[in-house]
Amino acid sequence: MIDAEKTNMNNSFNSVKLILGDQLNLNHPWFNSVNENILFVLMEVRSETDYVKHHIQKVVAIFDAMRKFAVELKEKGHHVHYLKINDSENKATITENLKVICTKFSAKEVHYQLPDEFRVDEELKQLEGEIGIPVFISDSYHFLTTRNEFGEFFKGKKTFLMENFYRHMRVKHQVLVDSLNKPVGGRWNFDQENRKKVPKNHVIHTVLLTSKNVSGIVEEIEQSGIKTIGKVEPSEFYWTTTRDQALILLEEFVSVSLPLFGTLQDAMTENHWYLYHSRLSFALNVKLISPLEVIKRVEKAYFENPDLCELNQIEGFIRQILGWREYMRGIYWSQMPAYAELNFFENKRPLPSWFWTGNTKINCLKHAISQSLDYAYAHHIQRLMVTGNFALLAGIHPDEVDKWYLGIYIDAFEWVEITNTRGMSQFADGGIVGTKPYVSSAAYIHKMSDYCRNCYYSYDKKVGEKACPFNSLYWNFFDQHAEKLRSNPRLGMMLNVWNKMTNDDRTAILLQASSYLEQIETL
Ligand SMILES: Cc1cc2nc3c(=O)[nH]c(=O)nc-3n(C[C@H](O)[C@H](O)[C@H](O)COP(=O)(O)OP(=O)(O)OC[C@H]3O[C@@H](n4cnc5c(N)ncnc54)[C@H](O)[C@@H]3O)c2cc1C
Ligand code: SF4
Repeated sequence: MIDAEKTNMNNSFNSVKLILGDQLNLNHPWFNSVNENILFVLMEVRSETDYVKHHIQKVVAIFDAMRKFAVELKEKGHHVHYLKINDSENKATITENLKVICTKFSAKEVHYQLPDEFRVDEELKQLEGEIGIPVFISDSYHFLTTRNEFGEFFKGKKTFLMENFYRHMRVKHQVLVDSLNKPVGGRWNFDQENRKKVPKNHVIHTVLLTSKNVSGIVEEIEQSGIKTIGKVEPSEFYWTTTRDQALILLEEFVSVSLPLFGTLQDAMTENHWYLYHSRLSFALNVKLISPLEVIKRVEKAYFENPDLCELNQIEGFIRQILGWREYMRGIYWSQMPAYAELNFFENKRPLPSWFWTGNTKINCLKHAISQSLDYAYAHHIQRLMVTGNFALLAGIHPDEVDKWYLGIYIDAFEWVEITNTRGMSQFADGGIVGTKPYVSSAAYIHKMSDYCRNCYYSYDKKVGEKACPFNSLYWNFFDQHAEKLRSNPRLGMMLNVWNKMTNDDRTAILLQASSYLEQIETL
């Protein structure tokens, strides 16, 4: 129990410093030394729990991480004021709580760190007017680029090519480059070596999950009336919620999973929910660990033992964090708020209700959705090529898709969720993030997974009874959006294939697709 009154010897503090739930960075300069005139404030607020329906595990993980962070700060001697979700003093929004706290502790100024989400940024920009005392802003000292650096890098350029940005980041941060700033191993990108399916009879050895009991927090969330999705097993909670746990997870990942990370990073199986993925995204996104320390640790593993941690394994991993993660943040701050309205294909359909239950005969979707509800997690290819792929092929409105992704994943914070979902996965931005829409027929899912083996549908049928829905919907997508896709040089070949089919074949495929879309709720 963190009791605000008992933590403070003084009744007044010159400065109130706000720490948001995703700013749990113990190495932030704010905490370098103890200052009797500073009161650090953390709060669990309904404005943040309710802007979308979150997975129960996400709410639990954030509250648990915040509470433990507050305790760590207090143990270091800092003054901390913590508002729990059910505290009677809790006014439910950041601004209203700060008003009360500043008055109560006679604060002369408020400080906050740059938030990562547009919604919160807008609220905090109004603070000074609302509270009536000076407000100061500092960096969160987490990312490897500033908010505006991305815009400057791409200034005057027609496209935002991730690969160019990534190479720039490799040189800037001296990661996997030699003394002449050339890539170690002679290539910047080893993607060709990756993209393998889980081999037959392969035994998956991954980091063991260590669990903790979060019954108390789960009860408090239930009492508060916050509406959530998904499941939680309170006595076995797996997510890392302290810096120490995150560092242990990183070490385990490096020794157990990294040697196969790249090779199997796109693979999917019914038998395992995270394979060789790190599950570090939550710890990274709430800033328990920094991207640079993760990257440097992984780079060190390669230099220490290049036979075990080969270049394709570690380059693939580093690109995700040094490249994609920073790139998505850059896109977010250069494109918001207009980005949240983009709908290039003018899609309108609601998400089928089985996205919230996993009750579908489509085996790949059933697995990706069910594990998301069970663990608040799916790996990148499940998100992109199973759920995202289906949503785009079925013409689901990007608002609906965003709401689902933003709620369900443990690591879902808007700056990295919306850019991946609306941008990379739904192509609703018309090509700002991706150079082409990520769509596929059953062929890709069959190649990269074992899902098709036990599916009600047949992966090799386009039409007829039990034909895989991905097949007809895939060609239907090209037919429906031919005008918009024609100018894309990466799609010309598929449009040609479609155009060269006989009229009868095309008609049968389109009929199959439209019948599937009509009965989408029962697929
Ligand atoms: C539709 C869609 C929605 C997504 N939504 C989110 C989200 O809300 N939050 C989120 O953190 N990631 C999101 N991602 C990216 C990626 O799926 C997750 O970062 C990853 O699955 C997290 O699991 P992990 O830590 O085991 O990742 P690993 O596979 O082990 O990768 C290591 C780290 O690289 C970073 N990373 C990997 N891919 C990306 C990417 N495309 N963009 C940004 N960072 C990346 C993450 O920090 C991740 O922890 C999304 C991807 C898609 C296709
Ligand atoms: S057959 Fe089609 S629906 Fe079934 S698992 Fe394979 S790709 Fe998914």
